[in-house]
Amino acid sequence: MKVPFGDLKTHYQAYKVPIDKAVARVLESGHFILGPELERFEKDFEEYLGSGYVAGCASGTEAIYLALAACDVGPGDEVIVVAHTAVPTISAISMTGAKPVFVDVDSASYVMDVTELESKITENTKVIIPVHLYGQIVDMDAILKIAAAHKLKVIEDVAQATGATYRGAKAGTIGDFGAFSFYPSKNLGAFGDGGAVSTRSRENFDRLVMLRNYGQSKRYHHDVVGINSRMDEIQAAILSAQIPFVDEWNQRRCEIAKRYTQGLKNIVLTPAENTASTHVYHLYVIQTPHRDDLQNYLLDRGIQTLIHYPIPAHLQKAYSYLGYKPGHLPVTERLAKRILSLPMFPQLTDEQIDEVIKGIRDFSAEPSTTSNVSKFEKASQTR
Ligand SMILES: *Cc1c(COP(=O)(O)O)cnc(C)c1O
Repeated sequence: MKVPFGDLKTHYQAYKVPIDKAVARVLESGHFILGPELERFEKDFEEYLGSGYVAGCASGTEAIYLALAACDVGPGDEVIVVAHTAVPTISAISMTGAKPVFVDVDSASYVMDVTELESKITENTKVIIPVHLYGQIVDMDAILKIAAAHKLKVIEDVAQATGATYRGAKAGTIGDFGAFSFYPSKNLGAFGDGGAVSTRSRENFDRLVMLRNYGQSKRYHHDVVGINSRMDEIQAAILSAQIPFVDEWNQRRCEIAKRYTQGLKNIVLTPAENTASTHVYHLYVIQTPHRDDLQNYLLDRGIQTLIHYPIPAHLQKAYSYLGYKPGHLPVTERLAKRILSLPMFPQLTDEQIDEVIKGIRDFSAEPSTTSNVSKFEKASQTR
């Protein structure tokens, strides 16, 4: 049985009727940019998030950029973030001219280690970007407390956590801004690129709306230096059509995660869930010291897995100018060698999940890999 990592074709087939209808409506309207579909999407997504305002934009990367620009972040400023993230989080900081300052992550929850945060703050620090990686929310109480004490803004990177909640509030409504990505494979995905910024303040919203459209307040009046980062009407219509299903899909992702965790405990290290939040499992990421061998073994059986992410941002060529060296972020670097993302998408069947579990169990039973696994995992679980 083949198990793909994702399957957007099956997803489209399942929702073909509402999606085709949405696309046809836009094509026939002749209105493709900044029209009624974007307005409707923004209202629908505001309602989904339960509070604040939403400004649609062209990608998750630009959502983070626009939020930083709305905080007046620029050259000379520092932004605190993790290196264990999708590189676009960091690209967005670079786009403003500000300097990314990296904090290590927690080895069990994979997200920002808030105990290290305060030591990275300087007089140039303007913003903290907690990344809700894999669908798990960062310890926001700790972040907000530190941010308040040092008068810093908080921009949540919600690209992987649409629909997750923290003490009852949706991810993206907790900090000053939330930056969402609707890249097709995300928990809520467009059929192309898309993103959005959420904010609690009307003033911020008005600023974002200018920034995403050449800085225009009204036609040919440019009040701020902006860019073109508009969500097009087709993507807005497709997203609105799918919002009603997001919670259902996240529910299924959690069921899949539960089945994996039950089938894999004591075999590999399974993901830890923070108690204050609901995880939405954009990705299900295990740890094993035999990661590369396991990945090849599974591939031979037709099971696709991926690594998110094999090279941390601070060790990427593009960011060598920041001066980080191997050893600077030990947990991040160790994870990069041990993590493996298992197939995770709402249409995954129980039979497919069991096939993945069986593959991993069979691999672990091979003489060359058994010996140290459990001892090693026990040691790392207690650290
Ligand atoms: C996907 C992603 C982004 C970038 O979103 P795009 O829509 O691809 O620009 C940023 N941060 C994280 C954590 C992501 O997963």
